[in-house]
Amino acid sequence: MIITKVRAHHLRGIPMQSPPFREKPDRTRALLIEVGTDEGLTGWGIHGYAHKSIVSFVNEYVAPLVVGQDPLRPARIQNAIRANLTVRHLGATLTNALSGIDVALWDIKGQSTGLSVHTLLGGAHDRIPVYITHGAAYDDAPVYSVDELAREAKHLVELGNTHIKNTVGRQAVPDPDDDYVRMAAIREAVGPDVQIAMDGNCRMTLPQTVRLCRLTEELNISFLEEPILHNDPDLLRRLRSQTTIPIAAGANHLHSAKDLLVAEAVDIIQPNVCNDAGYTAGLGIAELAEAFNVPLGHGNGSGPHNVALQAGVRNGKIIEYHFHKWMAYNAIFESTPQPENGFLTPSSEPGTGLRPRDGLVAEYEVDV
Ligand SMILES: [Mg+2]
Repeated sequence: MIITKVRAHHLRGIPMQSPPFREKPDRTRALLIEVGTDEGLTGWGIHGYAHKSIVSFVNEYVAPLVVGQDPLRPARIQNAIRANLTVRHLGATLTNALSGIDVALWDIKGQSTGLSVHTLLGGAHDRIPVYITHGAAYDDAPVYSVDELAREAKHLVELGNTHIKNTVGRQAVPDPDDDYVRMAAIREAVGPDVQIAMDGNCRMTLPQTVRLCRLTEELNISFLEEPILHNDPDLLRRLRSQTTIPIAAGANHLHSAKDLLVAEAVDIIQPNVCNDAGYTAGLGIAELAEAFNVPLGHGNGSGPHNVALQAGVRNGKIIEYHFHKWMAYNAIFESTPQPENGFLTPSSEPGTGLRPRDGLVAEYEVDV
């Protein structure tokens, strides 16, 4: 089998379900990567951030290196791209492009063998715990008030979810005391048995983060994700020595998984197959993490693609369904695994099981 087509599609204005008590956003954008073959199989990857820069990069620079290759050999294709591209200074752009193509290749590998990607990656778990991230305002929307945040958290729990996550440190200057009030309201709203987590999105200094941890430890926080600027491994290591809250990082590949693990910077490592070089790299990070006795977790959206890795490898522990991005997946793909009572069962369809809805690409694709 030979790859005959590689094409990144930028889609805009796809209608989707808005957050529980808000009218916006009710549309989403997406960046899908299509890999076609001479045997009629088509694989689909997605770029988690839908940055337009990836579109021309994939279509102009990466596609010519991939067309003509055997789609069942994603590792060989990654080698070919890395060896031949003369634009290595694009760094994260290259990694993001590799991810979308790699996910599409594993999709083809699954379809050609009749196996799910979850099975191909090891099939370690039948289902995986899932947490719901919510309460992040988009575009020009107002920041969630404390009451609004608590009400939404309670609503998500009433739908059967058992673990939720919120963002912290999003003030103009990160304000741990304000975040404590917000997290305390959520704890009060959902009761003691629901797990609650925090995500700092790399916005805080070490002193701000230490204060936040000291204030919120009494709320029984399940984990704190990427609190520190640039995911600095040394600062994360120092943070871990000053709090009992487990620290997670790695969704944003600012430092490699190796740097975080060697520095003893994390309790949970979070590769994202849609941003960090695909399932191929995810398998490598899982093996590396196991050598350090560190479990794999997931953050940063694209949960329906990432569940195959988390449920596939032995040390996969948890998957994120970011409410906004979960609804986006429901809008984009024919069939997306849905959380049930705190767990997610990976697709058993050949490949990823994630096929764009009929006609969606043609209707919403825009030129870049
Ligand atoms: Mg995050």
